[in-house]
Amino acid sequence: MNKFIPSLALGALMAFNTQAAEDPDFNYNVDRFADIEVLRYEVPGFSDLTPRQKAMVYYLGEAAQMGRDIIWDQNCAYNLPIRKMLEAVYTNYKGDRNSKDWKEFETYMKQVWFANGIHHHYSTDKFSPKFSRSFLETQAAAQPAGSVPANYAELIEIIFNPSIAAKRVCQDSSQDVVAGSAGNFYAPGITQAEVEAYYAKIKDPNDPTPISYGLNVRMDRNADGSLREDHYQLNGLYGPAIAKIIYYLSKAREYAENDAQKNYISTLIDYYITGDLRLFDEYSIAWAEDTASQVDFVNGFIESYGDPLGMSASWESYVNFKNLPSSQRTETISNSAQWFEDNSPVDARFRKPHVKGVSAKAINAAMLGGDAFPSTAIGINLPNANWIRAAHGSKSVTIENITEAYAMASRGNGFNEEFVIDAPTRTMMDKYLYLTDMLHTDLHECLGHASGQLLPGVDQDALKEHGSTLEEARADLFALYYLADPKLLELGILDNPDAYQAEYYKYMLNGLMTQLNRIEPGCDVEEAHMRNRQLVAKWVLEHGKKDKVVELVKKNGKTYVKINNYRKLRDLFGKLLAEVQRIKSEGDYKAGAKLVQDYGVKVDPKLHKEVLQRFAKLDIPPYRGFINPVFTPSFSPSGEIIDVTISYPENFVEQMLRLSRDYSTLIK
Ligand code: ZN
Repeated sequence: MNKFIPSLALGALMAFNTQAAEDPDFNYNVDRFADIEVLRYEVPGFSDLTPRQKAMVYYLGEAAQMGRDIIWDQNCAYNLPIRKMLEAVYTNYKGDRNSKDWKEFETYMKQVWFANGIHHHYSTDKFSPKFSRSFLETQAAAQPAGSVPANYAELIEIIFNPSIAAKRVCQDSSQDVVAGSAGNFYAPGITQAEVEAYYAKIKDPNDPTPISYGLNVRMDRNADGSLREDHYQLNGLYGPAIAKIIYYLSKAREYAENDAQKNYISTLIDYYITGDLRLFDEYSIAWAEDTASQVDFVNGFIESYGDPLGMSASWESYVNFKNLPSSQRTETISNSAQWFEDNSPVDARFRKPHVKGVSAKAINAAMLGGDAFPSTAIGINLPNANWIRAAHGSKSVTIENITEAYAMASRGNGFNEEFVIDAPTRTMMDKYLYLTDMLHTDLHECLGHASGQLLPGVDQDALKEHGSTLEEARADLFALYYLADPKLLELGILDNPDAYQAEYYKYMLNGLMTQLNRIEPGCDVEEAHMRNRQLVAKWVLEHGKKDKVVELVKKNGKTYVKINNYRKLRDLFGKLLAEVQRIKSEGDYKAGAKLVQDYGVKVDPKLHKEVLQRFAKLDIPPYRGFINPVFTPSFSPSGEIIDVTISYPENFVEQMLRLSRDYSTLIK
């Protein structure tokens, strides 16, 4: 539950004073369609790695791409055959490329590629195609035998019938969220009540080191009607993809930087072979404790945002290496982790007496895969298991080159002029937002998620469907509270006691207004990070009303966020942090649900409409993602990699078609 995805503001608000890019002419912008912009990212420092490190990046990158089909199938059981059909039509089309049908079909194809399936990656609503059904029927029927699935007529019905598989992740807790979700974590017909009963039976509430139940599981039904866990493993679900992942992990292992790294790659491979979640825990501990290696990676079933019950995890991969200069900042913070914990505004009973090994670093991503591609996070904090975090610590990263790519691609887009209240605030943001945004990510990942403890006997899943939102709120609030702390000046990380105001303004503007650009008219806020941001912003708006800490004001008919008292705003963040931590520590489901429902979900339709209209004029895409660079190894006569070069030869379509050609593991 611990990835940090960019707020809209990070994609849009800008934030200059980035680190100097390696190539001043680097072209970040790749493609633009529907509500999406596709970027590419530079990988500064890659050429400074040793040949062995480059070889490891290369093989880990292959392993990252080999899992692509897994996420497609996890997102929805129809995705892979639909992709095959759409790609066949796309590549073989001989008709008029200026026709409306073709243009809308091409947009849909790109939307499906970007989302790893037929549901929007963020809202999880099924896309509504704007080309005619007869266009696709005619095109699919005209394809040579074998190039489209035999059941293509059924697939077309799924694409066009709005009542089939309408939502990938249902979060409406008044419904059966399992039955209401089109994701592929549960076989059709399984209900939420059945799944909850199944796990209630096998979970031991007194186990101090529980496995992550259901993490690598798709739930199915036995012939007698009882439920059964099918595991993602070599001789189980996704076996052919996992076999390729194992192959490339074992190649990467030959270039590991040290024995510890070699050993945990072996443990990870053993876990992929057996599906044994105890081995995954063992791997996770050793991985979290490895702070020595420069080249690092995430590869596995990690985050469970895609499962409406937050148990089964989506496959993802990040290949990366430490950005040495920027890591000084994160290391300074993590070295003071205990000070931050001891001085936090939460009840002493809920603080960690001994913060264990919170390691933090800034990294540059070199390859994104699975659920982390093309839409990706800017920060990660793993492992997710609470007992491992408490006993062994966690690893927190800020992805510097991705953050930078967002900032560089946003220059001059007019966002600040439209939404930020006045010139002094804009100037402050120009000066400090890039750094304080990055710091917010550092603090959120490295301290926020790692802070606090549950009271004895409290189930880590006690907050159920609100768990993700409240966990993100906790991490954000911890970061917001400390951004304004003099400690950051004392540590030499900030040079101006008011710098934090840049991030405060951005956060309030985003949570109260601009993130609404991601919501369809008439809809509520659903995604966990967005609920969290609105919850935090609306709660402090309301609780600071009496003192006019923050206001929504009108100027020339437009709404603006006005912050009158930044110090009091900080106090309010601290108060809410104390309450959210109490809810988490006590497992107070009722209070947590009320907080989310009262502040995180509902949208003011008038303000929503205004925000959408103001954005429409700016033409800023609400969502962004990335294509990967291409790595090309050169080999010695004996088959050792002697060097790897990096290049950016492709556009979005070319990269998607190449991945489907070279990395299809689950569909032929
Ligand atoms: Zn987070």
